[in-house]
Amino acid sequence: MFMNIFEDTLKRIENLGKIGDFNKKQLQIFSKPKREHYSELVIGDMKFPAFRIQYNDARGPTKGGIRYHPDVSLDEVRALALWMSLKCAVVDIPYGGAKGGVKVNPKQLSQEELEEISRQYVRAFHEEMGPEKDIPAPDVYTTPQIMAWMLDEFEKIKGGHYPGFITGKPLELGGSKGRDKATAMGAYYVLREYVKSNKIDSRIMKIVIQGFGNAGMHISKILFDEGYKIIAISDSKGGVYDKKGLNIPKLIEYKKKKRKVSGFTKDIKNNDLLELECDVLVPAALENQITKENAGSIKAKIILEVANGPITSDADEILEIGDKIVLPDVLVNAGGVTTSYFEWVQNNTGYYWEEEEVLDKLDKKMTKSFYEIDKKVKEKDISYRDAAYIIAIERILKSEKLRGNA
Ligand code: NAD
Repeated sequence: MFMNIFEDTLKRIENLGKIGDFNKKQLQIFSKPKREHYSELVIGDMKFPAFRIQYNDARGPTKGGIRYHPDVSLDEVRALALWMSLKCAVVDIPYGGAKGGVKVNPKQLSQEELEEISRQYVRAFHEEMGPEKDIPAPDVYTTPQIMAWMLDEFEKIKGGHYPGFITGKPLELGGSKGRDKATAMGAYYVLREYVKSNKIDSRIMKIVIQGFGNAGMHISKILFDEGYKIIAISDSKGGVYDKKGLNIPKLIEYKKKKRKVSGFTKDIKNNDLLELECDVLVPAALENQITKENAGSIKAKIILEVANGPITSDADEILEIGDKIVLPDVLVNAGGVTTSYFEWVQNNTGYYWEEEEVLDKLDKKMTKSFYEIDKKVKEKDISYRDAAYIIAIERILKSEKLRGNA
């Protein structure tokens, strides 16, 4: 059944009023975005609705990726922008949250058309964005090349160089070393600390990954290199399964050649993959994947939410009853925005760091954030998601209060 993820997130926040140190009136700040911008991008007789939503900017300029997907909707972009606000506060970086989206299937566009809608997006929203106002980045089906076109368009309009306008750029245009794998590295640091603090032997852990794009492919490679056994992986066309463990470098080669994972070894349906017997399930595709319909069938002990919003709130309740540990998206995939922040800092200072320095700083940020949340989980006997949301809401409300708004 379709779940409105924006309303679902508002419900989660409302429920926190019962366990957090804030009142209903203060939580009103989170009930709607501060600014919403709409446009329509046009190629020939094709029209594509486009959005840029700036949810909360109390802690700094808003930050968030741009998604190209046929299912993009206003409420999806609102939810993603709200999660960005929380996420930046969870890892304590000086940003608010935003998100952009275009309702388009980029796989059906030529390269020239893809460039044209990317430039049109910037022409539509350039007045609302900028290095000190709102900083976009890649998301589902948007790439470093798209960021390069967008930067070029912005700089043409403004007549100068503004590398801090957008992150996730190619290195040659001011991108950061380590940004390509940052989301996955951040997720790995969170899992590593959870495993360490619970004294689990990672060498016997079996992993299942849904999604094999930027985030899914990198996390599979990192976990494979760290000695974890990955038994199943899927992409939008289907999944593959091998209980002895998949050879990830070979699967990456296969995917590059065939543009799909199915056929590499024994095939498995996407829905069956989610319900496999395993230690860690890593949703790394889209939202609304674990709902009240399938939550009771999930056998994984830990769910590492690399994707944004893969679990609905009613599914969360079912998983909690089943003693499943959900490590939430607002922490787990925050390595992406944290390294985007590092990219912006490098752009603004004009001094660039080596990959080792970037990943070392990322590791410190993620590890510190994990233990802040872990402490709250233990103090209040609540879920990791509730603990992360409470920490984020408290931080945002502090800034709102200092500004005289809460
Ligand atoms: P991507 O476009 O690179 O990859 C998406 C992958 O999901 C593709 O492999 C696609 O085939 C697969 N997919 C789509 N529908 C599927 C389905 N029903 N079953 C299985 N696989 C399916 O996107 P990405 O950047 O890897 O983002 C994935 C998720 O991670 C999104 O929720 C995104 O918001 C989140 N995320 C990404 C980043 C980042 O830096 N890339 C940062 C934070 C959060």
